[in-house]
Amino acid sequence: MATEYFTVPENTSPLDHRAMQLEQYGARTYDMVVSAWECTACKVTVGGPPAMILPVVNYRLPADLEEWVAEAGASAVENAEIPCCEACGEAAELGHVDYFAHHSTMQVDMVVRWSPAGGARIFRWSPSLGFGPMPAMSEDEERLFVRDALLRGASAARDHNASEEADEILLEAAERFPGENEWLEFLPWLSGSGKFSVAGAIAAGHAEAHPEDPEGHFWLGQIAVDLVALKIWGEEKLGEAEAHFERALACQPQHPLARLGLANVARMRGDLAAARRHLESLLAKTPNHAEGLYTLALIELDGNPGRALALFEQGAALRPRDADYLRGMARALLALGHPAEAQAAAFRAKQHAPGDQRIDELLLAALAAVKG
Ligand SMILES: [Zn+2]
Repeated sequence: MATEYFTVPENTSPLDHRAMQLEQYGARTYDMVVSAWECTACKVTVGGPPAMILPVVNYRLPADLEEWVAEAGASAVENAEIPCCEACGEAAELGHVDYFAHHSTMQVDMVVRWSPAGGARIFRWSPSLGFGPMPAMSEDEERLFVRDALLRGASAARDHNASEEADEILLEAAERFPGENEWLEFLPWLSGSGKFSVAGAIAAGHAEAHPEDPEGHFWLGQIAVDLVALKIWGEEKLGEAEAHFERALACQPQHPLARLGLANVARMRGDLAAARRHLESLLAKTPNHAEGLYTLALIELDGNPGRALALFEQGAALRPRDADYLRGMARALLALGHPAEAQAAAFRAKQHAPGDQRIDELLLAALAAVKG
């Protein structure tokens, strides 16, 4: 089967473990494989290898899964370490393999039971219903199974930093199921790791499927701003970003991140007055918006370091482990002529971001000012 997998913890029954995982992760629960072994001579079951948890999805439709389990089951028999019977010491035989994959809409697992003798048969299992016959799936239920498979596959790939695999699955997801809310949760990760084309496909699909929802528009704007900031796109694209943010605000007038996006567009254009207006409006509605406080503080640093300091302090109280706010405080304190306090703030910042050279430069500047 898959080369990389986890096992169910010792002393936990696979089905109990499965129930807990489903409770916690729902459709994102990784698939599980349990094998049952028996001694044909003594007619007893023999404990086999621990149940496997598979952070990978090798199928789309229920029929694909059935086919895949049949193939993988046959090769697993060849590769498995065969357990021995405790009574007679003979090698046990594989009774069957159960493969569990969740169907979130039907609220049951589809279980493919494969045995060397009988091939593949399909059951359903859930913590409350146990095993039973799997009801026939409607076309729509099959579609929703595919969606769950894509969600699981993408989550697993993200969790294990299998970035290219995640890209492929998410592109397929955006194409086959445009506008599903589940894909939105991948956007911060995708854009944070520079996967702008995949992020863009998800955002565009969302904006088209749900034009009344601000999230797709907001993300289209954010991706454009990121691309301009990285100089992958030219500044002429800021107009597009602005239009996306405006669209998001038309859907939800208080959307804080869309307002922040407009402020960033204005900053990138050098229009600090407009940036300040957007940020004041954001903070009037959402006074504790950490990124909003930070961005406004950056603008205030030049002309009004006292206010910048107050804003950075407010942000530092909200995000005590984030070095950016402390570093900002150090800059403001230096500008205000308080080098000793600036030094103290920079030291605190350094504890959270030891590798940040900007903090070292601030420490040197503060030291020079203290001596001077
Ligand atoms: Zn035996």
